[in-house]
Amino acid sequence: MNTDNRDIQNIVIVGGGTAGWMTAAALTATLGKGGLNVTLIESEAIGTVGVGEATLPHIRFFNQKLGIDEATLMRETKATYKLGIEFKDWGKIGDSYIHPFGDFGFDINRVPFHHYVSRAAKLGQNTHLDSYSLPVMAARHGKFQPPHPDPNNVLSTFGYAYQFDAGLYAQYLRKFSEARGLTRQEGRVVQTNINSETGFIDSVTLENGQDIAGDFFIDCSGFRGLLIKDALGVGYRDWTNYLPCNRAVTAACEHIGPSLPYTTATAKASGWQWRIPLQHRTGNGYVYCSDFISDDEAANTLMADLEGPARTDPKMLRFTTGQRDKCWEKNCVAVGLSGGFLEPLESTGLYLIQEAITNFIELFPTKDCDAVDRDEYNRIMDISFERVRDFLLLHYVATTRDDSPFWNHCRTMEIPDSLQYKMDLFRSSGRVVTYEIGAFKDPSWLAVYYGQNIVPQGYNPLTDLMPDTVLAGQLAQTASTVDNAVGTMQNHGDYIKHHVLRS
Ligand code: FAD
Repeated sequence: MNTDNRDIQNIVIVGGGTAGWMTAAALTATLGKGGLNVTLIESEAIGTVGVGEATLPHIRFFNQKLGIDEATLMRETKATYKLGIEFKDWGKIGDSYIHPFGDFGFDINRVPFHHYVSRAAKLGQNTHLDSYSLPVMAARHGKFQPPHPDPNNVLSTFGYAYQFDAGLYAQYLRKFSEARGLTRQEGRVVQTNINSETGFIDSVTLENGQDIAGDFFIDCSGFRGLLIKDALGVGYRDWTNYLPCNRAVTAACEHIGPSLPYTTATAKASGWQWRIPLQHRTGNGYVYCSDFISDDEAANTLMADLEGPARTDPKMLRFTTGQRDKCWEKNCVAVGLSGGFLEPLESTGLYLIQEAITNFIELFPTKDCDAVDRDEYNRIMDISFERVRDFLLLHYVATTRDDSPFWNHCRTMEIPDSLQYKMDLFRSSGRVVTYEIGAFKDPSWLAVYYGQNIVPQGYNPLTDLMPDTVLAGQLAQTASTVDNAVGTMQNHGDYIKHHVLRS
């Protein structure tokens, strides 16, 4: 072990929800062999938030880095595969589109495919963008198989994520971390002890009087923000003016019908409702704004909409959408709900946890926590949160719904300049603002723009270089390539039976 006295040797994680155990697994797997001691404190009496079933494809890379076998994880967490999210009734009642984890068509002469679709539309050919997306068509047909390794094969043009029980995921990661030397401490933290000179956290005290000291602390205490908020006093950016939903009611029900490889988000009168099919049950929740509907009415709406017999009573959760002013302050990083919360419309909770952990490991500090590293971390996390926020907000403002006070409010909401700019650019030229940092790249934005009826006025003029008949032929051929490929894929339920449950 090669340490000098500036090196961090003891990290304390406060909280054992999904954030705590994802952090623990990543730290023990990545840094544990270098002599780092990791302790996780959790209180069974307090419990976890107990939700979070739908994920983004990024989680596969997180698990792969840890060396976790996919089929084993899927069995342990009762997972299904997820090719995207179906959005119902968002642009207007009766609409349905899928935001897929994958591309729409293939770039031609380095011009994104959708520009050719826009040009074809101007010529009167109105095939929907969906027909050119393998994951959309596969999801619609209930098909799944992993992407083909050959990048020239149409079956390589998508990614996938999981729909799983996040509580079981946390349990799995607990076993994983303990096997790699993590110390788990049961108990309630009642006090955080701050160094009067540096303002850093020296230790936390448990209810039984035990002090647990550390060089660095990760706050995974959930909405409570025990360290970052209560002890270090870091404020919170409230984004309710952009995303007004502030409550959710959840319930699980029996699974009925075929196993679907996608999550559904249906816009309702005062919010929206999720349906997430797992192997053994379906997770449901109504996310709503309490200014427009009562808790009882929301619960009744949810329970009336369950596809099968209820397995649980409705459970109510309150939240304030927003982000911690600084996710890293002094010698403490807030990961998970303590760092911020954005409603689960695009399944970004676990993704933001993964981002927080990955960035922390990349900017791993010494004991004195160089302000430059901290500021860089906060800059990246700010961008990550804001880009998710803008993407979620797009779903609420790209609508013509005027059937309820909630939708009248959302349709006419003020939006941040960052989103206005993106929407203006797309409306005028069909161009998507691209960026490196952030969960959602061009295909995601395209899915929501087109799915919610934002039609670009223009298209890339380079597409005019292609003669009309060649254009029609290219588009028809792409749609038929996608169609044929989907025909070769396996039924999602059968794939799970043969490759997950029997492997
Ligand atoms: P928690 O689960 O609340 O864990 C906090 C931990 O801190 C617990 O172990 C608790 O015991 C401990 N603790 C607190 N105080 C103390 C104390 N004093 N002493 C000791 N221990 C303490 N994300 C997704 O990716 N996909 C989804 O589909 C999704 N759906 C969601 C739906 C809703 C309605 C909500 C609210 C969130 C959803 N999320 C989703 C987000 C996801 O649930 C969270 O990001 C994730 O569960 C992480 O939570 P956490 O670990 O930060 O907090």
